[in-house]
Amino acid sequence: MKVGRFAPSPSGRMHLGNVYAALLSWLSARSSGGRWIVRIEDLDRQRCRPCYSDMLLDDIRWLGLEWDGEVVRQSERTALYEEAFSALSNEGLVYPCFCRRADLLASSAPHSSDGIPVYSGKCRNIAPLERNALMEKRAPSWRVRVGGISEFEDGHYGAQRILLEDDFGDFVVRRADGNFAYQLAVVVDDADEGVTEVVRGRDLLASAHGQLFLYRALSLPAPSFSHIPLLVSSDGRRLSKRERDVDMEFLRSRFTPEFVVGKILHMCGFVEEVRPVALSEAVSLFSWNALPSEDIVFRPF
Ligand code: GLU
Repeated sequence: MKVGRFAPSPSGRMHLGNVYAALLSWLSARSSGGRWIVRIEDLDRQRCRPCYSDMLLDDIRWLGLEWDGEVVRQSERTALYEEAFSALSNEGLVYPCFCRRADLLASSAPHSSDGIPVYSGKCRNIAPLERNALMEKRAPSWRVRVGGISEFEDGHYGAQRILLEDDFGDFVVRRADGNFAYQLAVVVDDADEGVTEVVRGRDLLASAHGQLFLYRALSLPAPSFSHIPLLVSSDGRRLSKRERDVDMEFLRSRFTPEFVVGKILHMCGFVEEVRPVALSEAVSLFSWNALPSEDIVFRPF
């Protein structure tokens, strides 16, 4: 059975862009009779707040998107990440990195799609003695050593192929503050929760290469990936919490859940005019083929 998921980071109130991502992953799972789970990705303790997780779940409930099983919170699963990290270390795949964030951002290396320069591999081959001396001075972050070609078939964007070292670079799996990084946690959790299908914004398309590398390294079963176009405002910028008219608080005060669902289905090209749509009907209107690949311009309600 298909298992889909929604894995938001509770760093603010949901807005229409998050609702759209949640709805599409729900529709994709439910339209084939699958399960759908929710996982709170709250590893970043600086940005994530418990009150936002509560609001998030309340907003998902308001929309009527029922999830299966218990909601999982990444902040409670450190032991699992620790285990995976040790497995990678035992395979000799991780190394400490002493580069500072500011230096990394200033690097002239080509930028990967998330805007961060591809890591040069500078700390890959530091001699053990020097490494120990550096470790005494300051806590390093930990990177995995990647290599080879990565290929996968995205369910919506088709064939993807990159050279891991040149186009993606060694990536951080544990941060200098000891917290595990998104890339490691998302893989451990999707595998542990039996997720078979990842549906999420195309801003994470490239990161699937890093995740697939970890699935192979950890001998875990990988899900399929289907990325979806982003919702953008008329000037091409990604919708954000700054735009008040897409914020959940605003939407909930003005519209019914069925109307918000209908608006999203219309933006996706699943219905011809904006009208209230019940989730039971939405399931039959959903179609991957009708969804565009270009980003979707949001026009106010
Ligand atoms: N937690 C991530 C975010 O909110 C999404 C992770 C994922 O879907 O893989 O951007």
